[in-house]
Amino acid sequence: MKRAIEAVIPGVAASDGAGVKMTRVIASPHLDLFDPFLLLDEFRSDDPDDYIGGFPDHPHRGFETVTYMLAGSMKHGDNQGNEGLLEPGSVQWMTAGRGIIHSEMPMQEDGLMWGFQLWVNLPASDKMTSPRYQDIPASAVPETELGDGVTAKLIAGKLNGVTGPVSGVATSPFFYDLRLEPGAACSIETPRGHNVFIYAYSGSVEAGEQGVASKEIALLTDGDSVDLRSDDGARCIVVGGRPLGEPVARYGPFVMNTEQELQQAFADFQSGRF
Ligand code: MN
Repeated sequence: MKRAIEAVIPGVAASDGAGVKMTRVIASPHLDLFDPFLLLDEFRSDDPDDYIGGFPDHPHRGFETVTYMLAGSMKHGDNQGNEGLLEPGSVQWMTAGRGIIHSEMPMQEDGLMWGFQLWVNLPASDKMTSPRYQDIPASAVPETELGDGVTAKLIAGKLNGVTGPVSGVATSPFFYDLRLEPGAACSIETPRGHNVFIYAYSGSVEAGEQGVASKEIALLTDGDSVDLRSDDGARCIVVGGRPLGEPVARYGPFVMNTEQELQQAFADFQSGRF
């Protein structure tokens, strides 16, 4: 069974951290969540005023944050002494679990800063797990050809017998970064039952009868695969995960199942238990 586009939803201009300008695609007024995905931002600017403030110290509890850089670099540090450099093509898959306090700050004063942040929910049974980092350099993200004129970088998941480096994630996600040359087409296998989206970040791409353009997200129907093509060439991310179907209680950087757990998260954070 082929997947098709069920809905196309525009991203909205937003600002987060210390004034970083971005396009918010999930967790926007038009799309509050797409289980298990809680948030998707694309940040892209060559104006330092749009990113120089970065994301100073802030907490997370109850989910995972994924940062995928296309251009520019940021330094990551947390309150447990973990440090890392996010460089073009690298990925940080951080399982916040019971809680960390971290910062992500630009390592440049000018030039292009471009990338994504995706939030992936954790099941109730894993929300208070120990924090875990998967820091993946660009050189460890494999690329595969999907027919003529289509290349895919695999951050998580398996295509063509090639497996992405991110592993052991509760929602069994896949995360592919695709480049389609003009007129190119491909088919991508997708686990049945996963929620799958396409976010076009350059050009436009068609899935079945419908298309999705730059700064829009397409939510797909269920199926075993999706056929993609692009007349003028495109770059897009194709991401899927197993929906949790659990209640979501969220406020800012805390995502739990109940209001009481949210209040506990605040109390723990304020009393320095992160
Ligand atoms: Mn963060």
